[in-house]
Amino acid sequence: MKKLDYLIVGQGIAGTTLGWVLYLNNKEFYILNDEDTRTSSAAALGIYNPITGRNSVKTWNVDTLFYELEEFYLKVEKKIGKKFLYKKNIYRPYKSNKNANEWNEKISNKNYKNYIKAEVKSKNSKTLYDELGGIITTKSGYLDVNKYILESKKYFHSIKRYKKYKLNEGSIIKNDNVIQIKNWRSKYVVMCIGINETKNLFSYLPFKHLYGTSIIIKTKLKIMEIINRGISIVPISNDLKNVGSTYKKDNNNGLQELIDKLSKLLKKKYIIIDEKNGVRPATRDRRPFVGKHHFFNNLYILNGLGSKGVSLAPYCSKELFNNIEKNIDINKEININRYNS
Ligand SMILES: Cc1cc2nc3c(=O)[nH]c(=O)nc-3n(C[C@H](O)[C@H](O)[C@H](O)COP(=O)(O)OP(=O)(O)OC[C@H]3O[C@@H](n4cnc5c(N)ncnc54)[C@H](O)[C@@H]3O)c2cc1C
Repeated sequence: MKKLDYLIVGQGIAGTTLGWVLYLNNKEFYILNDEDTRTSSAAALGIYNPITGRNSVKTWNVDTLFYELEEFYLKVEKKIGKKFLYKKNIYRPYKSNKNANEWNEKISNKNYKNYIKAEVKSKNSKTLYDELGGIITTKSGYLDVNKYILESKKYFHSIKRYKKYKLNEGSIIKNDNVIQIKNWRSKYVVMCIGINETKNLFSYLPFKHLYGTSIIIKTKLKIMEIINRGISIVPISNDLKNVGSTYKKDNNNGLQELIDKLSKLLKKKYIIIDEKNGVRPATRDRRPFVGKHHFFNNLYILNGLGSKGVSLAPYCSKELFNNIEKNIDINKEININRYNS
């Protein structure tokens, strides 16, 4: 095999998205991916949401991240002729009168105005516990993550850029301060293996395991928007809804927590069709890990996407690409050299 520009290890949201950035920039790359690992991406609801957290504030770097996000995924959709990005508003039933007042302040705040579509007056809905009404926010949606990854895999496989392969310690050849993986010769190696990196070459970085559960339910609830209060309900078809997620230090009782929260939001009956569990590759300072290994010169990482893989992956891939190819500094908040000193 001729010398590659890039060897990517791992094909979750991170590896897939970096693959597309390289493809769209005409680089020679190859992806190695272990298909038998339980991945975070497989459990993801895929929501991208500019206003997040307990206090409903703008997410980190929102203007830059959300400016390019939809354009990026739509470009990939067009390339392979498959649909996986769905623009959807988010309906957030108020938790309390205090919560309604907080949103009312946001309505007149110029920083939030563009993200608010409408207020829903108090309702006596047959489907949701939303007696206080709520707010509809916009510039959000969801990525069908499993389809994005599967269709990308099929495409990369068809153009001979993908191989099922599990990286282990024995396949890493270390020569001076450069690494090679088995027989693949590559200018750069980029590790995108999610939480498994805690046992690998970048284990010196402060990862945090963030366990999560999501479920697919069957219910007669008819909704256009994503519903969010404590948990999210994502309409994936007339009958089926994705529901999630939990954020836990261990993998105990995720399902029960979802059922309890759902009982406070959804009036309709439902049955659980599937349960998915994953470990988010989160980080102590809540910022991604992007950049070059502190010792090996050709070794890079794209990881630490935490609970926001869909919105962070296009931006982080571009930052890494521009750094390697154009010598442009990586945003210092995500550059792993913040842990070098
Ligand atoms: C329940 C739940 C809900 C979530 N909901 C959302 C959401 O709504 N929106 C959002 O943006 N994010 C969400 N996330 C977070 C999102 O899933 C992560 O940010 C994202 O999936 C991380 O992607 P990744 O590619 O870094 O890691 P992973 O998805 O874990 O992918 C790693 C890849 O590397 C491969 N691999 C691992 N080890 C090896 C090895 N030794 N050799 C070769 N290959 C290897 C794996 O097989 C896998 O393909 C959710 C997560 C969970 C758990």
